[in-house]
Amino acid sequence: MPVCTFCKNAYEFPKGTTVVQKDSSVRFFCSSKCRKNMEMGRLNKKVKWVRKSDIVKDEKEKREAAWKARQEIDKVVKK
Ligand SMILES: [Zn+2]
Repeated sequence: MPVCTFCKNAYEFPKGTTVVQKDSSVRFFCSSKCRKNMEMGRLNKKVKWVRKSDIVKDEKEKREAAWKARQEIDKVVKK
């Protein structure tokens, strides 16, 4: 699965566009929105909707880590 160069989202292959530049560097874009933002020279750290998706990912990872930790504690208690 390619990862979008701009918003760092993983997407299925038939979706999105792949741009190969003259210096043979490859850029993957999940949507035309990401491609156009990159062409306009915007930084992905400064764009609000990219940061929002990062925050959502972080929260999900934290929740999963907490759940795993709780499971391990349960195992220790059962023994
Ligand atoms: Zn994207």
